[in-house]
Amino acid sequence: MIRLGNCNVSLDRKEKGSDMDFISHAHSDHMSAAKSSRAVLASDETAELIDAAYGIEVSRHEGIGFELLDSGHMLGAKQLYIRDMGWGTSMVYSGDFQMQSSYACPRIRTRHADIAIVDSTYPYPEVVFEPHEAVREDIERRVDWALSRGIVLFTAFRTGKAQELIAIMNGIGIVPIVSRHISEANRVYREHGVMLDYASAYEGDTTDFERLARHNFVGIADTRDMRRLAARLASIHGRKVTTAIASGLTKEFRFDYDMQFPLSSHADFRQTVQYIERVNPEMVMTYGKEKELMALNLAGFGIEAKPFTDIENANLLNIVALNR
Ligand SMILES: [Zn+2]
Repeated sequence: MIRLGNCNVSLDRKEKGSDMDFISHAHSDHMSAAKSSRAVLASDETAELIDAAYGIEVSRHEGIGFELLDSGHMLGAKQLYIRDMGWGTSMVYSGDFQMQSSYACPRIRTRHADIAIVDSTYPYPEVVFEPHEAVREDIERRVDWALSRGIVLFTAFRTGKAQELIAIMNGIGIVPIVSRHISEANRVYREHGVMLDYASAYEGDTTDFERLARHNFVGIADTRDMRRLAARLASIHGRKVTTAIASGLTKEFRFDYDMQFPLSSHADFRQTVQYIERVNPEMVMTYGKEKELMALNLAGFGIEAKPFTDIENANLLNIVALNR
């Protein structure tokens, strides 16, 4: 947690004793405080997506002294910026972010801060994400080929990756069929000006869905049991089903899908260094499961960083004040 005046603010976690809970974006691993918190600090888009895609209505609090800056990770994803933590010290918490631009949300906005608390999802310097453009071309080429042979079925988070895939498909004239939670999240995207063209069997308007399903189609589903869904589709439609995933994790793991594409909405290590250079802080703290490794690897690149802890945080302002 961070402390602002006498207000304890949790960062993307449920924590005992927090007065306010910042939820940077609508991914389930960042929303543990959503259900129980009485004071959620989040963007409009994030609150709407949590409601639409996960059925949780959050109690929001405006908060004073906080600013939310786009992080480029997905629609509504924000960095938390505090202009003055005390003694004029500014702070930014990145949340999940990327330096590349996404196909379905605004680009990141960076701003100088004295303290930067930086997400550590990809702490390995060896993991490098290609430009999205190159990944997109690869997706287009291979989806086109697989469609000539049968159905293409992507698995994707219901918020974020699903909409990016829809935007990519729309770019080559394909209207994908999506599962229910994805279609519910899509409505929020559309309300915020991200025009997505898709069909859903769940929205009452089945004409599109039935027309599309008569031919080979691209399906996008937020299922964990792809094998079962693929087998069901193959048996219903009597066609071959090619399974696919688009995730940065494909750089680290081999998944049991026919096609895997390294389309990430996170910063790789190199982008994390770029982010820190742009923010140009006096102090860097790493945040998340891999915070120790990230701090260690940043040191190898000449960036002094400490894993975030509440105790260190208590001394944070003194440390920064001493550095001046
Ligand atoms: Zn995320």
